[in-house]
Amino acid sequence: MEFPHEPLPKQGIPTSDVLERLAAAKVNDKDWAGGRVFSLVYDAGPEIHELHGEALKLYSAENGLNVLAFPSIGVLSHDLVRISASLLGADDLRSPEGITGHLTSGGTESLLWAMKVARDEGYARGIKRPKVIASTSTHATLTKAVDLFGIDLLRVPVDPISFKADLSAMAAAIDDATIMLVGSAPSYPQGVIDDISGLGQLALKHDLLLHVDGCLGGWLLPFLERLGHVDTPWNFTVPGVTSISADLHKYGYSSKGVSVVLYANADLARRQLFLTDDWLGGFYASTTMAGTKPAGPIAAAWATLMHLGEAGYLELAEQTWDAARRLIDGVKAIEGLCLRGEPDMTVAAIGAQDPSQLDVFALGDYLVERGWYLDRQANPDSLHATVHAGSAKSVDALLVDLAAGVKAVAGQQAKDRSTTYATGAH
Ligand SMILES: *Cc1c(COP(=O)(O)O)cnc(C)c1O
Repeated sequence: MEFPHEPLPKQGIPTSDVLERLAAAKVNDKDWAGGRVFSLVYDAGPEIHELHGEALKLYSAENGLNVLAFPSIGVLSHDLVRISASLLGADDLRSPEGITGHLTSGGTESLLWAMKVARDEGYARGIKRPKVIASTSTHATLTKAVDLFGIDLLRVPVDPISFKADLSAMAAAIDDATIMLVGSAPSYPQGVIDDISGLGQLALKHDLLLHVDGCLGGWLLPFLERLGHVDTPWNFTVPGVTSISADLHKYGYSSKGVSVVLYANADLARRQLFLTDDWLGGFYASTTMAGTKPAGPIAAAWATLMHLGEAGYLELAEQTWDAARRLIDGVKAIEGLCLRGEPDMTVAAIGAQDPSQLDVFALGDYLVERGWYLDRQANPDSLHATVHAGSAKSVDALLVDLAAGVKAVAGQQAKDRSTTYATGAH
Protein backbone atom coordinates (compact mmCIF):
# COMPACT_ATOMS: atom_id res chain seq x y z
CA MET A 1 0.00 0.00 0.00
CA GLU A 2 1.51 3.29 -1.10
CA PHE A 3 -0.53 5.59 1.09
CA PRO A 4 1.41 5.66 4.39
CA HIS A 5 -0.28 4.79 7.67
CA GLU A 6 -0.56 7.90 9.80
CA PRO A 7 -0.09 7.87 13.55
CA LEU A 8 -2.56 9.90 15.62
CA PRO A 9 -1.11 13.42 15.28
CA LYS A 10 0.20 15.04 18.46
CA GLN A 11 -1.59 18.24 17.49
CA GLY A 12 -4.74 18.22 15.40
CA ILE A 13 -4.62 19.13 11.71
CA PRO A 14 -6.86 21.97 10.44
CA THR A 15 -10.11 20.77 8.83
CA SER A 16 -9.27 22.01 5.35
CA ASP A 17 -5.92 20.17 5.38
CA VAL A 18 -7.56 17.00 6.69
CA LEU A 19 -10.15 17.09 3.91
CA GLU A 20 -7.45 17.64 1.33
CA ARG A 21 -5.58 14.63 2.64
CA LEU A 22 -8.73 12.53 2.54
CA ALA A 23 -9.26 13.44 -1.08
CA ALA A 24 -5.61 12.71 -1.84
CA ALA A 25 -5.88 9.30 -0.16
CA LYS A 26 -8.13 8.17 -3.03
CA VAL A 27 -5.28 8.37 -5.52
CA ASN A 28 -5.16 4.61 -6.16
CA ASP A 29 -8.92 4.04 -6.03
CA LYS A 30 -10.83 2.96 -9.10
CA ASP A 31 -12.66 5.53 -11.21
CA TRP A 32 -16.27 4.64 -10.40
CA ALA A 33 -17.62 7.97 -11.65
CA GLY A 34 -16.23 7.17 -15.10
CA GLY A 35 -18.29 3.95 -15.15
CA ARG A 36 -15.26 1.63 -14.95
CA VAL A 37 -16.21 -0.07 -11.70
CA PHE A 38 -18.74 -2.90 -11.70
CA SER A 39 -20.57 -4.55 -8.79
CA LEU A 40 -19.23 -2.22 -6.10
CA VAL A 41 -20.87 1.05 -7.12
CA TYR A 42 -24.31 1.77 -8.57
CA ASP A 43 -24.24 5.27 -10.01
CA ALA A 44 -27.31 7.33 -10.89
CA GLY A 45 -25.29 10.43 -11.75
CA PRO A 46 -23.72 13.43 -10.03
CA GLU A 47 -27.00 15.00 -8.89
CA ILE A 48 -27.96 11.91 -6.87
CA HIS A 49 -24.43 11.68 -5.51
CA GLU A 50 -24.71 15.31 -4.27
CA LEU A 51 -28.10 14.59 -2.75
CA HIS A 52 -26.61 11.65 -0.81
CA GLY A 53 -23.91 13.96 0.55
CA GLU A 54 -26.43 16.57 1.71
CA ALA A 55 -28.75 14.01 3.32
CA LEU A 56 -25.84 12.24 5.05
CA LYS A 57 -24.73 15.58 6.43
CA LEU A 58 -28.21 16.44 7.73
CA TYR A 59 -28.39 13.16 9.65
CA SER A 60 -24.74 12.59 10.51
CA ALA A 61 -25.17 12.90 14.29
CA GLU A 62 -28.50 11.15 14.91
CA ASN A 63 -28.43 7.57 16.15
CA GLY A 64 -30.61 5.13 14.22
CA LEU A 65 -30.82 2.91 17.30
CA ASN A 66 -33.54 4.93 18.95
CA VAL A 67 -36.65 6.12 17.16
CA LEU A 68 -38.14 7.47 20.40
CA ALA A 69 -35.41 10.09 20.57
CA PHE A 70 -35.38 10.53 16.78
CA PRO A 71 -38.90 9.79 15.53
CA SER A 72 -37.94 11.10 12.08
CA ILE A 73 -35.78 8.00 11.57
CA GLY A 74 -38.74 5.77 12.37
CA VAL A 75 -40.88 7.58 9.83
CA LEU A 76 -38.21 7.48 7.10
CA SER A 77 -37.48 3.78 7.75
CA HIS A 78 -41.16 2.93 7.67
CA ASP A 79 -41.53 4.66 4.30
CA LEU A 80 -38.56 2.70 2.89
CA VAL A 81 -40.01 -0.61 4.05
CA ARG A 82 -43.56 0.14 2.83
CA ILE A 83 -42.43 1.41 -0.55
CA SER A 84 -40.22 -1.67 -1.02
CA ALA A 85 -43.12 -3.92 -0.02
CA SER A 86 -45.45 -2.31 -2.54
CA LEU A 87 -42.86 -2.75 -5.30
CA LEU A 88 -42.41 -6.41 -4.37
CA GLY A 89 -46.01 -7.44 -4.77
CA ALA A 90 -47.82 -6.19 -1.66
CA ASP A 91 -50.02 -3.90 -3.76
CA ASP A 92 -51.08 -6.77 -6.00
CA LEU A 93 -52.30 -8.95 -3.16
CA ARG A 94 -55.67 -8.98 -1.46
CA SER A 95 -54.25 -8.59 2.05
CA PRO A 96 -51.00 -6.70 1.57
CA GLU A 97 -50.92 -5.48 5.18
CA GLY A 98 -49.51 -8.89 6.12
CA ILE A 99 -46.29 -8.10 4.26
CA THR A 100 -44.00 -6.28 6.59
CA GLY A 101 -40.34 -6.19 7.39
CA HIS A 102 -37.32 -4.31 8.58
CA LEU A 103 -34.63 -1.99 7.34
CA THR A 104 -31.10 -3.39 7.50
CA SER A 105 -27.57 -2.20 6.71
CA GLY A 106 -27.23 -4.23 3.50
CA GLY A 107 -27.92 -7.45 1.66
CA THR A 108 -25.74 -9.42 4.01
CA GLU A 109 -27.70 -8.34 7.05
CA SER A 110 -31.03 -8.93 5.28
CA LEU A 111 -29.98 -12.48 4.39
CA LEU A 112 -28.60 -13.13 7.87
CA TRP A 113 -31.94 -12.19 9.38
CA ALA A 114 -33.88 -14.34 6.95
CA MET A 115 -31.66 -17.28 7.96
CA LYS A 116 -31.96 -16.57 11.67
CA VAL A 117 -35.76 -16.28 11.42
CA ALA A 118 -35.80 -19.62 9.56
CA ARG A 119 -33.66 -21.25 12.22
CA ASP A 120 -35.93 -20.04 15.01
CA GLU A 121 -39.00 -21.15 13.07
CA GLY A 122 -37.29 -24.55 12.78
CA TYR A 123 -36.65 -24.66 16.52
CA ALA A 124 -40.32 -23.75 17.11
CA ARG A 125 -41.28 -26.77 14.99
CA GLY A 126 -39.07 -29.00 17.09
CA ILE A 127 -36.14 -29.32 14.64
CA LYS A 128 -32.89 -29.53 16.62
CA ARG A 129 -30.56 -28.40 13.83
CA PRO A 130 -32.57 -26.74 11.08
CA LYS A 131 -31.41 -27.15 7.50
CA VAL A 132 -31.59 -24.71 4.61
CA ILE A 133 -31.43 -25.88 1.00
CA ALA A 134 -30.03 -23.46 -1.56
CA SER A 135 -28.01 -23.53 -4.77
CA THR A 136 -24.32 -23.11 -5.46
CA SER A 137 -25.31 -19.80 -7.07
CA THR A 138 -26.86 -18.27 -3.93
CA HIS A 139 -24.79 -15.60 -2.24
CA ALA A 140 -21.75 -16.32 -0.05
CA THR A 141 -23.60 -14.76 2.87
CA LEU A 142 -25.63 -17.94 3.31
CA THR A 143 -22.43 -19.70 4.28
CA LYS A 144 -21.65 -16.87 6.71
CA ALA A 145 -25.07 -17.45 8.29
CA VAL A 146 -24.25 -21.13 8.83
CA ASP A 147 -21.22 -20.07 10.79
CA LEU A 148 -23.08 -17.56 12.89
CA PHE A 149 -26.34 -19.34 13.60
CA GLY A 150 -25.63 -23.06 13.64
CA ILE A 151 -27.75 -23.93 10.62
CA ASP A 152 -27.03 -26.75 8.19
CA LEU A 153 -26.75 -25.41 4.66
CA LEU A 154 -26.94 -27.70 1.67
CA ARG A 155 -25.84 -26.07 -1.57
CA VAL A 156 -27.19 -28.04 -4.51
CA PRO A 157 -25.30 -27.64 -7.83
CA VAL A 158 -27.11 -25.45 -10.35
CA ASP A 159 -28.01 -26.66 -13.82
CA PRO A 160 -24.65 -26.52 -15.67
CA ILE A 161 -26.06 -24.78 -18.76
CA SER A 162 -28.68 -22.36 -17.42
CA PHE A 163 -26.94 -21.78 -14.04
CA LYS A 164 -30.42 -21.81 -12.49
CA ALA A 165 -31.48 -23.71 -9.37
CA ASP A 166 -31.99 -27.42 -10.07
CA LEU A 167 -35.43 -27.95 -8.57
CA SER A 168 -35.54 -31.72 -8.77
CA ALA A 169 -32.17 -32.00 -7.01
CA MET A 170 -33.36 -29.56 -4.37
CA ALA A 171 -36.61 -31.53 -3.94
CA ALA A 172 -34.63 -34.74 -3.51
CA ALA A 173 -32.58 -33.12 -0.73
CA ILE A 174 -35.60 -32.17 1.43
CA ASP A 175 -35.72 -34.09 4.70
CA ASP A 176 -37.28 -33.79 8.16
CA ALA A 177 -34.73 -31.19 9.30
CA THR A 178 -35.37 -28.90 6.34
CA ILE A 179 -36.96 -25.57 7.21
CA MET A 180 -36.26 -23.34 4.23
CA LEU A 181 -35.51 -23.20 0.52
CA VAL A 182 -33.67 -20.27 -1.03
CA GLY A 183 -33.87 -18.98 -4.60
CA SER A 184 -32.36 -15.89 -6.24
CA ALA A 185 -33.89 -13.16 -8.39
CA PRO A 186 -31.47 -12.90 -9.97
CA SER A 187 -28.39 -14.82 -8.81
CA TYR A 188 -25.33 -12.66 -8.23
CA PRO A 189 -22.77 -14.71 -10.23
CA GLN A 190 -24.63 -15.23 -13.53
CA GLY A 191 -27.63 -12.90 -13.15
CA VAL A 192 -30.26 -15.56 -13.86
CA ILE A 193 -33.64 -15.75 -12.14
CA ASP A 194 -34.42 -19.09 -10.51
CA ASP A 195 -37.80 -20.75 -11.06
CA ILE A 196 -39.41 -19.10 -8.04
CA SER A 197 -42.91 -20.40 -8.89
CA GLY A 198 -41.56 -23.96 -8.91
CA LEU A 199 -39.73 -23.39 -5.64
CA GLY A 200 -42.95 -21.95 -4.19
CA GLN A 201 -44.87 -25.10 -5.09
CA LEU A 202 -42.14 -27.19 -3.53
CA ALA A 203 -42.18 -25.09 -0.36
CA LEU A 204 -45.97 -25.32 -0.07
CA LYS A 205 -45.97 -29.07 -0.68
CA HIS A 206 -43.46 -29.67 2.13
CA ASP A 207 -44.62 -26.83 4.41
CA LEU A 208 -41.27 -25.01 4.18
CA LEU A 209 -40.27 -21.36 4.21
CA LEU A 210 -39.02 -19.90 0.92
CA HIS A 211 -36.63 -16.99 0.89
CA VAL A 212 -36.06 -15.15 -2.38
CA ASP A 213 -32.76 -13.31 -2.47
CA GLY A 214 -33.78 -10.19 -4.38
CA CYS A 215 -30.83 -8.17 -3.07
CA LEU A 216 -29.78 -7.43 -6.64
CA GLY A 217 -33.14 -7.51 -8.41
CA GLY A 218 -35.46 -6.14 -5.76
CA TRP A 219 -35.17 -2.53 -6.84
CA LEU A 220 -34.74 -3.12 -10.57
CA LEU A 221 -37.01 -5.99 -11.63
CA PRO A 222 -40.23 -4.16 -10.64
CA PHE A 223 -39.34 -1.38 -13.09
CA LEU A 224 -38.08 -3.72 -15.82
CA GLU A 225 -41.40 -5.55 -15.50
CA ARG A 226 -43.33 -2.31 -16.04
CA LEU A 227 -41.16 -1.56 -19.06
CA GLY A 228 -41.99 -4.98 -20.49
CA HIS A 229 -38.40 -6.31 -20.39
CA VAL A 230 -38.91 -9.07 -17.80
CA ASP A 231 -41.97 -11.17 -17.02
CA THR A 232 -40.70 -13.98 -14.79
CA PRO A 233 -42.83 -14.09 -11.61
CA TRP A 234 -40.68 -13.99 -8.48
CA ASN A 235 -42.07 -11.71 -5.73
CA PHE A 236 -44.72 -12.03 -2.99
CA THR A 237 -47.41 -12.65 -5.61
CA VAL A 238 -45.87 -16.11 -6.09
CA PRO A 239 -47.59 -18.57 -3.72
CA GLY A 240 -45.14 -20.01 -1.20
CA VAL A 241 -42.71 -17.08 -0.98
CA THR A 242 -42.27 -16.22 2.71
CA SER A 243 -39.46 -13.65 2.68
CA ILE A 244 -37.55 -11.40 0.26
CA SER A 245 -34.35 -9.38 0.65
CA ALA A 246 -33.90 -6.26 -1.52
CA ASP A 247 -30.99 -3.83 -1.45
CA LEU A 248 -31.68 -0.14 -1.71
CA HIS A 249 -27.96 0.50 -2.02
CA LYS A 250 -27.75 -1.40 -5.31
CA TYR A 251 -30.41 -0.63 -7.93
CA GLY A 252 -32.26 1.63 -5.48
CA TYR A 253 -29.29 3.94 -6.14
CA SER A 254 -29.15 4.89 -2.45
CA SER A 255 -25.89 5.53 -0.67
CA LYS A 256 -24.43 2.49 1.04
CA GLY A 257 -25.85 0.89 4.16
CA VAL A 258 -29.52 0.30 3.32
CA SER A 259 -31.47 -2.84 2.46
CA VAL A 260 -34.80 -4.36 3.48
CA VAL A 261 -35.88 -7.83 4.49
CA LEU A 262 -39.61 -8.40 4.09
CA TYR A 263 -41.77 -11.22 5.39
CA ALA A 264 -45.08 -12.56 4.08
CA ASN A 265 -46.67 -12.34 7.52
CA ALA A 266 -46.27 -10.48 10.78
CA ASP A 267 -45.43 -13.63 12.78
CA LEU A 268 -42.25 -14.18 10.79
CA ALA A 269 -41.38 -10.48 10.88
CA ARG A 270 -41.77 -10.49 14.66
CA ARG A 271 -39.09 -13.17 14.95
CA GLN A 272 -36.58 -10.50 13.98
CA LEU A 273 -37.43 -8.41 17.04
CA PHE A 274 -34.89 -8.80 19.83
CA LEU A 275 -36.06 -7.77 23.30
CA THR A 276 -34.38 -7.94 26.68
CA ASP A 277 -34.41 -6.37 30.10
CA ASP A 278 -31.90 -8.88 31.45
CA TRP A 279 -29.15 -6.37 32.25
CA LEU A 280 -28.77 -3.24 34.33
CA GLY A 281 -29.59 -0.84 31.50
CA GLY A 282 -33.36 -1.28 31.21
CA PHE A 283 -35.58 -2.41 28.40
CA TYR A 284 -33.72 -2.84 25.10
CA ALA A 285 -35.34 -3.58 21.75
CA SER A 286 -33.72 -3.91 18.34
CA THR A 287 -34.39 -5.37 14.89
CA THR A 288 -30.86 -4.99 13.50
CA MET A 289 -27.47 -6.59 14.08
CA ALA A 290 -26.01 -3.21 15.01
CA GLY A 291 -27.02 -1.28 18.10
CA THR A 292 -25.87 2.28 17.56
CA LYS A 293 -26.20 2.80 13.86
CA PRO A 294 -25.92 5.58 11.32
CA ALA A 295 -29.08 7.49 10.42
CA GLY A 296 -27.44 9.19 7.44
CA PRO A 297 -27.84 6.27 4.98
CA ILE A 298 -31.54 5.98 5.89
CA ALA A 299 -32.04 9.68 5.22
CA ALA A 300 -30.04 9.47 1.98
CA ALA A 301 -32.07 6.47 0.78
CA TRP A 302 -35.33 8.26 1.53
CA ALA A 303 -34.12 11.40 -0.25
CA THR A 304 -33.13 9.32 -3.29
CA LEU A 305 -36.53 7.63 -3.53
CA MET A 306 -38.39 10.90 -3.15
CA HIS A 307 -36.22 12.73 -5.67
CA LEU A 308 -36.25 10.02 -8.33
CA GLY A 309 -39.85 8.93 -7.93
CA GLU A 310 -41.34 6.24 -10.14
CA ALA A 311 -40.50 8.15 -13.31
CA GLY A 312 -36.85 8.48 -12.29
CA TYR A 313 -36.51 4.78 -11.53
CA LEU A 314 -38.17 3.83 -14.81
CA GLU A 315 -35.74 6.03 -16.71
CA LEU A 316 -32.72 4.59 -14.88
CA ALA A 317 -34.05 1.06 -15.46
CA GLU A 318 -34.39 1.71 -19.19
CA GLN A 319 -30.85 3.12 -19.40
CA THR A 320 -29.49 0.18 -17.44
CA TRP A 321 -31.35 -2.37 -19.54
CA ASP A 322 -30.15 -0.75 -22.76
CA ALA A 323 -26.52 -0.66 -21.53
CA ALA A 324 -26.72 -4.28 -20.37
CA ARG A 325 -28.12 -5.49 -23.70
CA ARG A 326 -25.35 -3.64 -25.56
CA LEU A 327 -22.76 -5.35 -23.38
CA ILE A 328 -24.39 -8.79 -23.57
CA ASP A 329 -24.89 -8.69 -27.35
CA GLY A 330 -21.42 -7.18 -27.79
CA VAL A 331 -19.73 -9.93 -25.77
CA LYS A 332 -21.56 -12.61 -27.76
CA ALA A 333 -20.24 -11.03 -30.95
CA ILE A 334 -16.58 -11.16 -29.82
CA GLU A 335 -14.85 -14.26 -31.15
CA GLY A 336 -13.41 -16.22 -28.23
CA LEU A 337 -15.81 -14.93 -25.55
CA CYS A 338 -19.09 -16.31 -24.27
CA LEU A 339 -21.56 -15.68 -21.49
CA ARG A 340 -22.08 -18.07 -18.61
CA GLY A 341 -25.82 -18.52 -18.57
CA GLU A 342 -28.33 -16.36 -20.43
CA PRO A 343 -28.69 -13.30 -18.18
CA ASP A 344 -32.29 -12.44 -17.26
CA MET A 345 -31.41 -9.04 -15.89
CA THR A 346 -28.37 -6.77 -16.18
CA VAL A 347 -25.44 -8.95 -15.10
CA ALA A 348 -22.95 -10.52 -17.49
CA ALA A 349 -20.59 -13.34 -16.52
CA ILE A 350 -18.03 -13.22 -19.31
CA GLY A 351 -16.20 -16.46 -20.01
CA ALA A 352 -13.88 -17.96 -22.60
CA GLN A 353 -15.38 -20.11 -25.36
CA ASP A 354 -12.28 -22.28 -25.14
CA PRO A 355 -10.42 -21.87 -21.84
CA SER A 356 -7.37 -23.67 -23.30
CA GLN A 357 -7.02 -20.81 -25.80
CA LEU A 358 -8.03 -17.88 -23.63
CA ASP A 359 -7.52 -17.36 -19.90
CA VAL A 360 -10.26 -14.87 -18.95
CA PHE A 361 -8.28 -13.88 -15.88
CA ALA A 362 -5.44 -12.78 -18.19
CA LEU A 363 -8.09 -10.73 -19.95
CA GLY A 364 -9.01 -9.44 -16.47
CA ASP A 365 -5.36 -8.35 -15.94
CA TYR A 366 -5.49 -6.54 -19.28
CA LEU A 367 -8.64 -4.69 -18.21
CA VAL A 368 -7.22 -3.79 -14.79
CA GLU A 369 -4.29 -2.11 -16.55
CA ARG A 370 -6.85 0.02 -18.37
CA GLY A 371 -8.60 1.11 -15.19
CA TRP A 372 -11.52 -1.33 -15.24
CA TYR A 373 -12.72 -3.24 -12.23
CA LEU A 374 -14.59 -6.52 -12.78
CA ASP A 375 -14.90 -9.31 -10.21
CA ARG A 376 -13.33 -12.67 -11.04
CA GLN A 377 -15.48 -15.74 -10.52
CA ALA A 378 -14.55 -19.41 -10.48
CA ASN A 379 -16.14 -22.76 -11.46
CA PRO A 380 -16.21 -21.84 -14.30
CA ASP A 381 -13.87 -18.84 -14.63
CA SER A 382 -15.57 -15.61 -15.63
CA LEU A 383 -15.37 -11.85 -15.34
CA HIS A 384 -18.41 -10.32 -13.72
CA ALA A 385 -20.06 -7.12 -14.91
CA THR A 386 -23.01 -5.72 -12.97
CA VAL A 387 -24.33 -3.09 -15.35
CA HIS A 388 -25.96 -0.02 -13.77
CA ALA A 389 -27.17 3.33 -15.06
CA GLY A 390 -23.64 4.75 -14.80
CA SER A 391 -22.38 2.00 -17.12
CA ALA A 392 -24.36 3.48 -20.01
CA LYS A 393 -21.44 5.77 -20.78
CA SER A 394 -18.78 3.07 -20.52
CA VAL A 395 -20.00 -0.25 -21.98
CA ASP A 396 -19.01 0.61 -25.53
CA ALA A 397 -15.45 1.38 -24.39
CA LEU A 398 -15.46 -1.85 -22.39
CA LEU A 399 -16.42 -3.81 -25.51
CA VAL A 400 -13.54 -2.19 -27.42
CA ASP A 401 -11.08 -3.16 -24.66
CA LEU A 402 -12.56 -6.68 -24.40
CA ALA A 403 -12.15 -7.28 -28.13
CA ALA A 404 -8.59 -5.90 -28.15
CA GLY A 405 -7.77 -7.77 -24.95
CA VAL A 406 -8.88 -11.15 -26.32
CA LYS A 407 -6.33 -10.76 -29.13
CA ALA A 408 -3.61 -9.32 -26.89
CA VAL A 409 -3.68 -12.05 -24.22
CA ALA A 410 -4.43 -15.11 -26.40
CA GLY A 411 -2.35 -18.01 -25.14
CA GLN A 412 -1.13 -16.10 -22.04
CA GLN A 413 -1.65 -17.10 -18.44
CA ALA A 414 -3.01 -14.61 -15.91
CA LYS A 415 -0.52 -13.00 -13.54
CA ASP A 416 -3.03 -13.45 -10.80
CA ARG A 417 -5.38 -16.43 -10.65
CA SER A 418 -6.98 -15.61 -7.32
CA THR A 419 -10.66 -14.74 -7.24
CA THR A 420 -10.67 -12.60 -4.12
CA TYR A 421 -14.01 -10.91 -4.15
CA ALA A 422 -13.99 -8.99 -0.92
CA THR A 423 -11.45 -8.61 1.79
CA GLY A 424 -10.94 -6.94 5.11
CA ALA A 425 -7.15 -7.08 4.81
CA HIS A 426 -5.26 -3.84 5.28
C1 LIG B 1 -25.00 -7.92 -3.05
C2 LIG B 1 -25.75 -9.16 -2.81
C3 LIG B 1 -25.81 -9.71 -1.53
C4 LIG B 1 -25.03 -9.15 -0.36
O1 LIG B 1 -25.35 -7.81 -0.13
P1 LIG B 1 -24.36 -6.76 0.52
O2 LIG B 1 -25.14 -5.50 0.39
O3 LIG B 1 -23.08 -6.78 -0.25
O4 LIG B 1 -24.15 -7.13 1.94
C5 LIG B 1 -26.57 -10.85 -1.37
N1 LIG B 1 -27.22 -11.41 -2.40
C6 LIG B 1 -27.18 -10.90 -3.65
C7 LIG B 1 -27.93 -11.57 -4.75
C8 LIG B 1 -26.44 -9.76 -3.89
O5 LIG B 1 -26.39 -9.24 -5.12
